[in-house]
Amino acid sequence: MADSGSKTQSPHIALFPSSGMGHLTPFLRLAATLSNQNFHVTVITFHPTVSFTESKILSSFFSAFPQITSKEFHLLPFDPSTVNSKDPFFLQFEAIRRSAPLLSPLFSSLSPPLSALITDITLASSFLPITSNLHLPNYILFTSSAKMLAFLTYYPSLIDTITNTTEIGDEIKIPGLSTIPKSLIPPLLLDLTKLFTTQFIENGRKIIESNGVLINTFNTLEPESLKALNEGKVIKGLPPVIPIGPLVPCDFEKGSPLLWLDDQPEGSVVYVSFGSRTAMSREQIRELGVGLVKSGCRFVWVVKDSKVDTEDEEDLEVVLGNGLVEEVKKKGIVMKGWIDQEEVLSHQAVSGFVSHCGWNSVSEAAWHGVSMLAWPQHGDQMINADVVRKSGLGMWVESWVGGNLVKGEEIGEKIKELMEDEGLRLKAAHLRDEARKAVDVGGSSEVGLLKLRKDLEPAM
Ligand code: UDP
Ligand code: UDP
Repeated sequence: MADSGSKTQSPHIALFPSSGMGHLTPFLRLAATLSNQNFHVTVITFHPTVSFTESKILSSFFSAFPQITSKEFHLLPFDPSTVNSKDPFFLQFEAIRRSAPLLSPLFSSLSPPLSALITDITLASSFLPITSNLHLPNYILFTSSAKMLAFLTYYPSLIDTITNTTEIGDEIKIPGLSTIPKSLIPPLLLDLTKLFTTQFIENGRKIIESNGVLINTFNTLEPESLKALNEGKVIKGLPPVIPIGPLVPCDFEKGSPLLWLDDQPEGSVVYVSFGSRTAMSREQIRELGVGLVKSGCRFVWVVKDSKVDTEDEEDLEVVLGNGLVEEVKKKGIVMKGWIDQEEVLSHQAVSGFVSHCGWNSVSEAAWHGVSMLAWPQHGDQMINADVVRKSGLGMWVESWVGGNLVKGEEIGEKIKELMEDEGLRLKAAHLRDEARKAVDVGGSSEVGLLKLRKDLEPAM
């Protein structure tokens, strides 16, 4: 199964994403990049997907890349009532993890023989023992920030020194990194009985057994974390952490254009979106609408009322209330459903992004030099917001975290501040230039991918 016996010209690499657009999107971008560099690529998918958007993007992807092999993975039956989680995405992670015994026959059915697997971080601890038995190199694609990776690899050792997470002090000192306030830790991870927490800790322990960690970031965005990880400060024995970011949005992701943007002055529009799976309370959504009106700015606002798109059925008039819908439509575009975020962020009319700080959104904002107003809600988003602020990509009002209702007045003021801050715009433009350099010839992303090829190419 290992690469050394293969007679193929190009390495054959299989990618195994897990569920949710935040995981699938970077995998498909990486698959596209590797295919364009003449790797032989297989993408393994499972069905049904949790959201409609995932199945839609997969079909556009495979139509755009007929040279990439699509392989379906059939999940073993799994009873969700046996685990402590109701989150459909986390339950899907678990269903895939428990189906790991089916991997060996799947890999043996692939031709030419695999040179390596790239596995999503959420699946790492259940897949690594299997690939190790097969002597198949297994790289992890980490879909969040390097700071979050540092936390993932450090957290198991912290847990081993305590009996209860209440013993964790107000500040966490990860070796090689500046101190992280406890409030930035995904709250879910403080409950050790939760499914996500057990997966997270197991993945954090096992990641050192992988051949390398590919990560969607670049040096100028996260110098401190990348340095600490690669100098072995965070945890000893970690394989190379290879920054291959930013993973650039591709044509297969394109949706229909938002023509309204073409009529707006340069840099005048703020884009507001909380990603593919973060819904706010109705009360908070309405305050946000009031805030947008009060800001006096033009805007594109995607309203998300439910975690999974198949359940997000309520009309805008019901979510916002009739009066508010009329008000917001005077100044901007408000919609529900899926928008082509790449099209919005790349548009010259757009210069600000109010975001939950899902890592793909942060990376896309950096790619286009759009300043962010970070409004993290849960999970890794607080740690990512910290990266946004420290890198200069945006501002973060920390008091907005924690589910407290933020009033429209305050939201409006901050959005105005974001849109008027020239200093922030310059910093974001600098990050855009650095992001472009990272993917250019000789840049960190190109060098990282060349290293991967060198490691996998059959010995000549
Ligand atoms: N996205 C999009 N349109 C939408 C919502 C999200 O294109 O209406 C894309 C966005 O560009 C990003 C991904 O979906 O690539 C969401 O990933 P992210 O890590 O930002 O957040 P998550 O959805 O995982 O919370
Ligand atoms: N993650 C991880 N180990 C795990 C599960 C998740 O390191 O076992 C990371 C992963 O990179 C992800 C982040 O934690 O981006 C947050 O998880 P997830 O994407 O599921 O939640 P979301 O951001 O969509 O709310």
